[in-house]
Amino acid sequence: MTPVTRRRFLMQTGSAAAALAAGGIAARRADAARILVLGAGPAGIAAAQALRAADPRLSVTLVERDPARLARSPRPAGPFLPPAPTVDAADLAAQEIGLLVDDVAGVDWQAGRLELFSGRREAFDRLVMAPGTAPAEERIEGHGARARHAWPAAWGSAAEARRLAAQIAAMPDGGRLVLRLPAVLAHDPALVAARAASLAAMLARQHPAANLTVLDATLDGTVRQSFAVRAGDALAGRTDWRGSGEGGTVLWTDADAGEIGTSAGTLHADVVNFLPALGAGTAARLAGLADASLWCPVDAAGRSALREGAVVIGDARKGVLRGTASAAEAGRSAAAAIAA
Ligand SMILES: Cc1cc2nc3c(=O)[nH]c(=O)nc-3n(C[C@H](O)[C@H](O)[C@H](O)COP(=O)(O)OP(=O)(O)OC[C@H]3O[C@@H](n4cnc5c(N)ncnc54)[C@H](O)[C@@H]3O)c2cc1C
Repeated sequence: MTPVTRRRFLMQTGSAAAALAAGGIAARRADAARILVLGAGPAGIAAAQALRAADPRLSVTLVERDPARLARSPRPAGPFLPPAPTVDAADLAAQEIGLLVDDVAGVDWQAGRLELFSGRREAFDRLVMAPGTAPAEERIEGHGARARHAWPAAWGSAAEARRLAAQIAAMPDGGRLVLRLPAVLAHDPALVAARAASLAAMLARQHPAANLTVLDATLDGTVRQSFAVRAGDALAGRTDWRGSGEGGTVLWTDADAGEIGTSAGTLHADVVNFLPALGAGTAARLAGLADASLWCPVDAAGRSALREGAVVIGDARKGVLRGTASAAEAGRSAAAAIAA
């Protein structure tokens, strides 16, 4: 296999500015291409490992803002988290994959460097973006930052997962828990149905007299059918599922009053798990890699259709079925193309 050198990278990307910006780094590993991978989810980790395996001379560093993503144990309890990671920071160190814990605030493509929240700048010869997803702006009257805090999505955030679990534990026995689903789902409907089934099971265990209402704005009945199979007759029978034609679309919210407006009237809720519409992670959007859909158009090797030389893998990609296996596979495919 042809070694992946800095020189080859810079020739491929044609970036003289990147060569200058990366000058200090080059001294560290004279002939090693410097690859930064943004995001230590399944996609970023698979890409980093495959790159190192393809050419041990590569300098590969993961940039991750949430160290909890690399803690196999102890994991916070609760049913609202994505699958646990299969590697931790010690495994990465053993594989000579660098780890930088920081938040990427921007990408300077011209200079070939990441701007980090800490104020640091990190030069790269090649950048692989695996930032996952982030909420999309939705025009729902009254639904601002305060409502998003009070009614957590708990979709990937451990802090929100703990908050939602605590809210459910503290809700009144005869109260109402609402699960809100947006019109367009980013993930496999089976994962969303699994969320509804966990909520129904939690309520049955902790507050048997409480009610689960699902406001489902999706246009087909896929999640509802999957939920019925997963939850079983007893739990499905006690769940108030409202489809898009039955008041399932949220029109306005008042989190302070615990009220949700729908086309079928106003609903009072004690606890709300509000799943937002999603798009590619903010870092990918800010880096100019997402189109008007807020997702990143790429080819099978993760090469961006919007910026030459940029690579996006995992959930941030446009038009893919999102899940752990697909994210990791995208990481491996991109690594193979980069190292080829
Ligand atoms: C509750 C839940 C349950 C799920 N259950 C399943 C399941 O059972 N099976 C399945 O296949 N899939 C499941 N999924 C989906 C699966 O978790 C995702 O498809 C997968 O994690 C996507 O991998 P990724 O690497 O693309 O992104 P992510 O796993 O989202 O990782 C992105 C990483 O990038 C980091 N990041 C983002 N922006 C920045 C920045 N600016 N600076 C630094 N770091 C940044 C984030 O902190 C994060 O660690 C579930 C998801 C959720 C939320």
